[in-house]
Amino acid sequence: MVDTADIVIVGGGVHGASTAWHLAKRGAGKIVLIEKDGIGSGASGWSSAIVRMHYTLESLVKITMYGREMFGNWKDIVGVGESGFRQVGFLLLFPENEVEHAREVIAMQQRLGIDARMLTNAEVGDIEPRLARENVAAGAWEPNSGHADGSTVANSFVAAARELGVDVRIGPEVLGVSSEGGKVTGVETSEGVVGAGTVVIEAGYRTSALLAAHDVELPITPVRHAIAVVERTPDFGGIHPVVSDRVVQAYYRPEADSLTLLGEHDPLKGLVDPDVEDIKTPDLDEQVSLVERYAARFPGQESASITRGYTGVYDCTPDFQPVFGRVHAVDGLFMGAGFSGHGFKLSPGIGKIMSELVLDGSTEMIDITPFRVERFAEDDLLTAGEGYENRSLA
Ligand SMILES: Cc1cc2nc3c(=O)[nH]c(=O)nc-3n(C[C@H](O)[C@H](O)[C@H](O)COP(=O)(O)OP(=O)(O)OC[C@H]3O[C@@H](n4cnc5c(N)ncnc54)[C@H](O)[C@@H]3O)c2cc1C
Repeated sequence: MVDTADIVIVGGGVHGASTAWHLAKRGAGKIVLIEKDGIGSGASGWSSAIVRMHYTLESLVKITMYGREMFGNWKDIVGVGESGFRQVGFLLLFPENEVEHAREVIAMQQRLGIDARMLTNAEVGDIEPRLARENVAAGAWEPNSGHADGSTVANSFVAAARELGVDVRIGPEVLGVSSEGGKVTGVETSEGVVGAGTVVIEAGYRTSALLAAHDVELPITPVRHAIAVVERTPDFGGIHPVVSDRVVQAYYRPEADSLTLLGEHDPLKGLVDPDVEDIKTPDLDEQVSLVERYAARFPGQESASITRGYTGVYDCTPDFQPVFGRVHAVDGLFMGAGFSGHGFKLSPGIGKIMSELVLDGSTEMIDITPFRVERFAEDDLLTAGEGYENRSLA
């Protein structure tokens, strides 16, 4: 029997899963989602899943607004599963040289209707009195933000998509996208061919290899990032907000009741090696560096216990901005990848955009032109995020 679909999606991370659900909700026909390992087994499952709306590009802010709405109202909007969203707030701590740029971003957010505001050093203390604030020039506060859970979101999107009839295949690896006369004809997998007139590749850093076979350039550096996990001391008190400590380029994100995940802001500060996904145990010095920064920011936490950390892969593009949309060289081919360590919160919005591009040929949410894959070959990279050190706030 010939195996065919209307649409094949490659990758069961938050992006492929979100696209599958958004397409199925619109009744897009027979959809097959192919994931070689497990749902959420890539970057999505290891994500810190911080949900913030602080982005330097207005278009990305709009995508995060769509995501924030969905994460916070998952039962009403998606109806199946959950997002794990906790509204603990998002607190930014700025060094002097970033304050002016931060003010511009906050003004833009406020124009878009987001509850976000700049804080003086003293006001930072009102929000989180346990912080040491000597080297903090100013802060910013998003009370409606927080974090969700990457694995839960990917699996919930997939469960909801399944209920709408999406055929989810776990195990086959997509070896290539086939085309004839410049038009997509399907995918070749380790378990046979699936014919389809539309293919959406959302395969993390592996997207590059699938596109390269069609002479489409997508430069992605996979960077292995360490997360340290500490158990806060019993006297710490209640939960803390997600803290983006721009002064020392680290973040501290609460997990469950008493844990805090510690991560590095600089997208390139990690290990680049071929075993990027296989080695999940972080180097000791990476963990120590994170714990030192956390303990300096939260006095008294020098005696917090360190539990075993883990790693995950950032798919970094040269401009640290995502890449998504139609692949113009091949009719019927679409892609989304290169989220450079900040793609979790974008996944609901990107899924909606991808579904609109596939079904309607355009989207009204944002102008997607700047995010096209062709920008690398055209040497037309995005400059957004340059107002912040190492562009880690994109
Ligand atoms: C440690 C860490 C912390 C992060 N923290 C945050 C954060 O706080 N906030 C935020 O917004 N973002 C964060 N991110 C980034 C975010 O998690 C990612 O941008 C997002 O999860 C990417 O999702 P994805 O679906 O594009 O890729 P992935 O989750 O990597 O999914 C791609 C999937 O494709 C599959 N696949 C690949 N090739 C093939 C093939 N040939 N055939 C079949 N299947 C294939 C893979 O197995 C994988 O499951 C973090 C990332 C990491 C690693």
